[in-house]
Amino acid sequence: MTTSASDRYRSWGGYPPATAARVVRVGWRSDPLPADPSDGPMLAFGNGRSYGDVCVNDGGTLLDTRGLDRLIAFDAERGLLRCESGVLLGEILDFSVPRGWFLPVTPATAQVTVGGAIANDVHGKNHHRAGSFGHQVRSLELLRSDGVRLTASPTENPQLFRATIGGLGLTGLVTQAEIQLKSVAGPYIDQERVPFANLDACFRALAEADQRFEYASAWLDCAASGPDLGRGVLIGGDHTAVAETRRQRRPLALAVPFTPAASLVTPWTLRAFNATYAGLQIGRPARRRMPVERFFYPMDRIDGWNRIYGPSGLLRYQCVVPLGPGQAAVREILEQIAQSSAGSPLALIKRLGNHPPAGVLSFPREGYTLAVDLPNRGQQTLSLLDALDQVTRAAGGAVYPATDARMSAESFRAYYPRWQELARHADPAFSSSFWRRVSE
Ligand SMILES: Cc1cc2nc3c(=O)[nH]c(=O)nc-3n(C[C@H](O)[C@H](O)[C@H](O)COP(=O)(O)OP(=O)(O)OC[C@H]3O[C@@H](n4cnc5c(N)ncnc54)[C@H](O)[C@@H]3O)c2cc1C
Repeated sequence: MTTSASDRYRSWGGYPPATAARVVRVGWRSDPLPADPSDGPMLAFGNGRSYGDVCVNDGGTLLDTRGLDRLIAFDAERGLLRCESGVLLGEILDFSVPRGWFLPVTPATAQVTVGGAIANDVHGKNHHRAGSFGHQVRSLELLRSDGVRLTASPTENPQLFRATIGGLGLTGLVTQAEIQLKSVAGPYIDQERVPFANLDACFRALAEADQRFEYASAWLDCAASGPDLGRGVLIGGDHTAVAETRRQRRPLALAVPFTPAASLVTPWTLRAFNATYAGLQIGRPARRRMPVERFFYPMDRIDGWNRIYGPSGLLRYQCVVPLGPGQAAVREILEQIAQSSAGSPLALIKRLGNHPPAGVLSFPREGYTLAVDLPNRGQQTLSLLDALDQVTRAAGGAVYPATDARMSAESFRAYYPRWQELARHADPAFSSSFWRRVSE
């Protein structure tokens, strides 16, 4: 079935604008690819939760995979789930949590498909313990544009498997995957908040959190500067041993139903938000028990929150820098953001562990990963991000393709020196706006 490209097929940040020439829906995993390579490059589209242009294909064909939404088989003894690639992580949890199983790795939104989680090799708040999503994938099926179907796993077509994990959707259409789940006692997390006064205290809190918590990330007040630079709150958590049979799901509490004519994220609203949020975090009880959704997916409770950034959208800058020299780089990046008064309501920092990467182009690697959402103010914002790239590159770090909308080809190749290995395994009929920007 063909539909016209609509708002649904934007990236989460809405920048850069891109319009697919056609969108075709994939309805059944055994069907042939519903697109013709002679019509131009094609690309699988999951649920558009990538911030930049890795999920869009300007002028080409998008394969909408949300119709591939079936759970296929579940081994309740071992926690092995086989499902189609368009299943959302939230749909997996609806099925698995009442049965005592959880995703070993989840990003901060449950509105992500299995195919999207594989293609960006997403990570969560527990990389130091579990690695990335790709480490949990036991096998996958790939449909190539020549009609060939291949199974790939660590032992079968292993090179193609490692190219597909974190492969940015370029090796073909993932139709289904087998994922290892992990056993949990119930649907609750015991959460602890640890406020810190500045960046040095933040690094200490993150190091301690690696030992103390299964999950940890910290919110930074981007408006703070001088001696307060890097102040914020670390949020740690562990699954509780409290067993519950019924999963308590909270409905969406809020929605942003339309895009306002201008961004609601202004210097004034940012200052107010940061001050209020910092006050709330520090003032609330340090320990709380909460349902897993509240802990992992707080932003999912505001449907369409990206619309507050207005028609110009937002840019997320997410980098990872090594633990030692990375501390100075994080400081420099926060200083540049504070000086630019670009402002960010959402600045998060995590420590990633030293697992070998699951894929050839996987982003997660040992170090600090800092993610900052910025309203798109045109050239001013783009120039700031170019300057941040220089800091990240000098520190030997990398920028996350899943969130990027503007890094240069030169930066990409410096961050991902093995990019040509992915290019060798790429399906010649598949491409994205991102890939054309960084590889041509
Ligand atoms: C609020 C929010 C929080 C986030 N938090 C995190 C986080 O904590 N950690 C993290 O790592 N990321 C995070 N992200 C980013 C997000 O997890 C990734 O961008 C993810 O890949 C999006 O998945 P999607 O299903 O929406 O796929 P899309 O964004 O639509 O596509 C992403 C890529 O996957 C490819 N793809 C999709 N389906 C298939 C398929 N069936 N076969 C082959 N390729 C396919 C696409 O071609 C594209 O290259 C967050 C995003 C948001 C909006």
